[in-house]
Amino acid sequence: TPVLEITDLHAAPVDGDDDILDGLTLTVGPGEVHAVMGPNGSGKSTLANVLLGSPEYAVTGGSIRFMGDDITDWGPDVRGAAGMFLAFQYPQTIPGVSVLNFLRQALSARKGIDLSMLELRLSIMEWMERLGIDPAFADRHLNDGFSGGEKKRNEVLQMAILEPELAVLDETDSGLDIDALRTVARGVEEVRQDRPHLGILCITHYQRLLDELAPDAVHLLVDGRIAETGGPELAHQLEDEGYARWMTPA
Ligand code: ADP
Ligand code: MG
Ligand code: MG
Repeated sequence: TPVLEITDLHAAPVDGDDDILDGLTLTVGPGEVHAVMGPNGSGKSTLANVLLGSPEYAVTGGSIRFMGDDITDWGPDVRGAAGMFLAFQYPQTIPGVSVLNFLRQALSARKGIDLSMLELRLSIMEWMERLGIDPAFADRHLNDGFSGGEKKRNEVLQMAILEPELAVLDETDSGLDIDALRTVARGVEEVRQDRPHLGILCITHYQRLLDELAPDAVHLLVDGRIAETGGPELAHQLEDEGYARWMTPA
């Protein structure tokens, strides 16, 4: 069973009538890393939001299956509890909530288990060590003054603790330095060691992260559908040549 199976997906803003996603088909198998690249305005963020179940968008055709279930109409909370992890799903800043406290709530929502603070701290400390994160990070307030790199560390830590079946990563931050990208890549590798069946969909404007992640497949998104699929060499080709070849003249 594929981890994620998107079939002929159409989606539009709830307050608009034009489909932004316009027949998108893509399958991620167990243990696979897939990347989605594409020019500005091609629908990458819309895809991420639709996978999250954002109420801003309506699916107007096609389907999304996760682990065999049709989740097209599922809300964001149910998706999260079922094991879909979307790195950007949480608010940017939550005043007064520590990284540790937030993880406790998220874990309770995901698994229906309430770990004690001590149990959670131990499990988080083990992961922080594996991921090379300073233990003091657990007591920082969520995203409050986080650098781009710290936000990414936090996302990877969430992914490790929440044990998803599918992780959707979104590289929107052009300001990430190479160390932050390596943190993400190393985190993904560590988590995959424990969860070899984890499927990963990485939506990105840049090939730099893909150099670190070594995806199984690279998809080019143009005008809301997949225009081409290849291996890592496609990411390099796009980096060298740009997207002009695939764009319809206006
Ligand atoms: P990308 O992330 O690939 O740059 P987006 O998914 O953000 O592209 O946007 C794709 C297209 O859909 C753009 O033309 C954008 O203006 C439009 N769009 C996205 N979201 C909305 C929305 N909520 N309402 C109206 N238009 C939108
Ligand atoms: Mg159509
Ligand atoms: Mg975008």
